[in-house]
Amino acid sequence: MSFTISGLAPGTQSRAVVIGTGPNGLAAAIELARAGLMVTVHEASAKIGGGARSAELTLPGFLHDVCSAVHPLAISSPCFEQYPLDAHGLEWIQPETPLAHPLDDGSAVVMARSLEATCADLGADGEAWRRLLEPLAAGWSGLRHDVLGPQPRWPRHPLLMARFGLDALRPARALAEAKFRGARARALFAGLAAHSVLPLETRPSAAFGLILAAAGHAVGWPIAKGGSQRISDALGSYFCSLGGQIRTESRIDRLPEESIVMCDITPRQLLPLAGDRLPEPFRRTLARYRYGPGVFKIDWALAAPIPWRAPACRHAGTVHLGGTLEEIALWESGFSGKPFVLLTQPSLFDATRAPAGKHTAWAYCHVPNGSALDMTDALESQVERFAPGFRSQILARHVFTPAQLEQYNPNLVGGDIGGGAVDLGQMFLRPNRWQYRTPLTGVYLCSSSTPPGGGVHGMCGYYAAARALRGMV
Ligand SMILES: Cc1cc2nc3c(=O)[nH]c(=O)nc-3n(C[C@H](O)[C@H](O)[C@H](O)COP(=O)(O)OP(=O)(O)OC[C@H]3O[C@@H](n4cnc5c(N)ncnc54)[C@H](O)[C@@H]3O)c2cc1C
Repeated sequence: MSFTISGLAPGTQSRAVVIGTGPNGLAAAIELARAGLMVTVHEASAKIGGGARSAELTLPGFLHDVCSAVHPLAISSPCFEQYPLDAHGLEWIQPETPLAHPLDDGSAVVMARSLEATCADLGADGEAWRRLLEPLAAGWSGLRHDVLGPQPRWPRHPLLMARFGLDALRPARALAEAKFRGARARALFAGLAAHSVLPLETRPSAAFGLILAAAGHAVGWPIAKGGSQRISDALGSYFCSLGGQIRTESRIDRLPEESIVMCDITPRQLLPLAGDRLPEPFRRTLARYRYGPGVFKIDWALAAPIPWRAPACRHAGTVHLGGTLEEIALWESGFSGKPFVLLTQPSLFDATRAPAGKHTAWAYCHVPNGSALDMTDALESQVERFAPGFRSQILARHVFTPAQLEQYNPNLVGGDIGGGAVDLGQMFLRPNRWQYRTPLTGVYLCSSSTPPGGGVHGMCGYYAAARALRGMV
């Protein structure tokens, strides 16, 4: 399927500035450079990549993904697929199994790449899983254009999108309880839907479960060989090959005067940058933008692989730790009970992440926005619950509280990793009905606070650049 932005009229040469080198900032920069603009990107940090960076957070030789780790959306991205990222050093690794979800009986529910294998593992609920996911997974190569695009708009695949939308707009809990009879399928779906960072009783939490499951069956949940930094480095390298310039350690404090300014930042950050240039009603709209819960994250250097009780977990890139749907829903709706933990174990599949025989693991749980609570013990207890002996393998740990995450990257307001809450009110009209535009000529928002929202896919930047280029011709 062709997917291109038309360039500027021949002979037109304009300058553009991009603030921020997250995946959306880099995608916007690439699109503008491909259209013939002279583009300079400014990054406050010493390293490019925003939420897709890697670092030796614990011990020398142990490489950790600081933020994003698993990339079903990047490998599905209609804009990334147009870029020669492999020629610029990006290599995907597919873990043997995308996801395992251990339970207290010592077993684990498995979401395999194969729909067949997943259905077989779900027993009596296998047929219901097939009915729900098969059309979405089979149609994923088309559907991804709609779910990773701005809404509302006429979908490219109306029938499939209608089918998806009917289920997606439901609360995840209601959908899981209506479709599945058994605890295993319900737990699996609850864990997937909890990526929404919404209470599972609210709309549209089901959308996230469906998207992640469909992508898992269709394209897998890959990790980047050598760490998520490689995604950003490949984007940056491709951008520079188009003539673009990147300046790191270059924090922008006032909106530049260039003809196009793309802001890979969230609404709260745009306010001080724009000063009194923004009209008061628009300032008030931005100030009302709502951020979601934060995350508390731990990275571990480990002496050995995590000693999972359920063997299936040893083959999975991602492991969801939270037990039953009811338990996960309790945590996600008000942070009581035990935390729902999202864990990845990249060194099992990528030897570059740790010294020979040693391992890394990455995990986080959702907490109230800006929470100062130390979740280390609660989070490690959840791992220990399904992997007795885990703590004895820890060589070192690195902890990020929500405030430390925000300090690391100002886009993570209060530890919110999605660039703002994704409830119904902010899912489509994000950050408001203007979406990428602002009242200032040439100034656009292009971060995950615009559609289609959070995740490493670059599509916010892609569509913001398309909007900016339309405004120029
Ligand atoms: C802990 C965690 C885990 C995650 N896991 C995953 C995952 O597994 N898979 C996935 O797809 N997504 C994941 N995400 C989400 C993903 O990282 C983000 O959705 C994505 O990075 C958003 O991209 P962005 O370009 O909008 O902004 P960001 O990636 O946040 O980039 C913004 C950039 O702008 C820079 N900046 C800000 N202000 C200024 C300024 N004034 N001047 C100059 N530069 C500035 C920042 O330093 C930063 O580099 C995770 C995020 C976190 C935090």
